[in-house]
Amino acid sequence: MNKHILIVGGGYVGLYTALRLQRRLQRELRDGEARITIIDPQSYMTYQPFLPEAAAGNLSPRHVVAPLRRILPKVRILNGRVTEVDHDERTVTFQPPEGAPRQVAYDVIVMAAGSISRTLPIPGLTDIGIGFKAVGEAIALRNRVLHLLDVAESTDDPEVRRKALTFVVVGAGFAGVEALAELEDMAKDSTRYYRNIKPSDLRWVLVEASNRVLPEVGPEMGKWTLEQLRERGIDVKLETRLESCTDGHVILSDGSEFDAETLVWTAGVKPSPVVNDSGLPLDERGRIKCTAMLTIAGTSDAFAAGDAAGVPDVTNPGQYCAPNAQHAVRQAKVLADNIVRHLRGQQLVEYRHKYVGSVAGLGLHQGVANVYGVKLRGFPAWFMHRTYHLSRVPTLNRKVRVVVDWTLALFFKRETISLGEMEHPREDFRAAVATTRR
Ligand SMILES: Cc1cc2nc3c(=O)[nH]c(=O)nc-3n(C[C@H](O)[C@H](O)[C@H](O)COP(=O)(O)OP(=O)(O)OC[C@H]3O[C@@H](n4cnc5c(N)ncnc54)[C@H](O)[C@@H]3O)c2cc1C
Repeated sequence: MNKHILIVGGGYVGLYTALRLQRRLQRELRDGEARITIIDPQSYMTYQPFLPEAAAGNLSPRHVVAPLRRILPKVRILNGRVTEVDHDERTVTFQPPEGAPRQVAYDVIVMAAGSISRTLPIPGLTDIGIGFKAVGEAIALRNRVLHLLDVAESTDDPEVRRKALTFVVVGAGFAGVEALAELEDMAKDSTRYYRNIKPSDLRWVLVEASNRVLPEVGPEMGKWTLEQLRERGIDVKLETRLESCTDGHVILSDGSEFDAETLVWTAGVKPSPVVNDSGLPLDERGRIKCTAMLTIAGTSDAFAAGDAAGVPDVTNPGQYCAPNAQHAVRQAKVLADNIVRHLRGQQLVEYRHKYVGSVAGLGLHQGVANVYGVKLRGFPAWFMHRTYHLSRVPTLNRKVRVVVDWTLALFFKRETISLGEMEHPREDFRAAVATTRR
């Protein structure tokens, strides 16, 4: 046999599944009896829970991602996108960055393509909105916030200043609250270097359609988080929806209207679009329909897990596992073991994990946690948040780099310059060329 295991997506599920397969199938990989391929547009896995700290400048962007080729030397990494899956033919359509798409055949497939931002058809959203799922978005936001402080300091137009200093985040789950809390903390800290901007000049608005924030830490700690955010001067608008943001003019369902240069959209996720083009069975939320063994319903050689998969929660009958890293990492372990069992003709086991609660960072030395029923707030929760995620970030190499970043931040003030020009590196050169022509 030469079984080809193809993993679509090199995020949490893809990386951890491949890591375990690389270890458990050592002999088969060496003897040419099995091979593993990951297809992902990026050559790295993003440790998403560290994105808010990267946005705040506490961590270097390169240290919140894990390089796939270095960590997985026995796995072939193809950069590009899977656009279609034909499970009857056991092939996927692979679109590389350059050139025509081609078919890649497999024996066993793992669908681990994760999720993308779930948006609504709101006027202006595509023009000014930005998501918070990728390292590029986190760093662009950091540059943007700092650049807007420069704009506000340098203008003499009060309207321009007010708009520049107004930041809106839509969605008060993990990503939204942590992104807002870290960015607000960083922006407030940075005002010390601006002569004409006081912390109270910054306006941060958090818009949430439901009646609570951070549901991941439970109602009591969610309420505490809400009070904390409001005490910090953040305008939290519950049971409120964004209706329009054309040209940065924000209109909310509570009737308020104001101008903002920045709007971060973190109001939920939906499965990666490849899921729709897979011909695989989907559940009512559009995720790949799975069994508790993490096989795709109706198949024995196709597996799925993570944000793109609807996995029954056997600890909570009738419910599905929530799309979070806690499940993704544990599912990857069971999934890899089940692939090994499948290849060896053994019985598969069920994925079983009871959600243990969560930790969230709310800026430097501030946090909230509810784990195994232990509720913490402030510094202890922040410390727990950091130690937990440090223990989880893949590879010793990344762990050391993260600790070094944090240690340096203890002794030196954080960098507060915008490197937004990196997003348009050819502008100056183009301007120079134009001058020559004249
Ligand atoms: C800011 C933020 C903070 C978070 N904090 C926490 C936290 O504290 N705790 C927690 O439990 N969870 C947290 N989460 C959620 C957690 O990160 C996700 O649930 C987890 O990443 C899901 O893993 P996954 O493997 O399914 O998807 P991902 O890790 O997103 O990986 C999917 C991969 O598939 C690739 N891909 C997509 N489409 C294709 C395609 N067509 N072809 C090939 N590859 C494709 C993507 O490039 C990506 O690399 C956070 C999320 C965010 C955004």
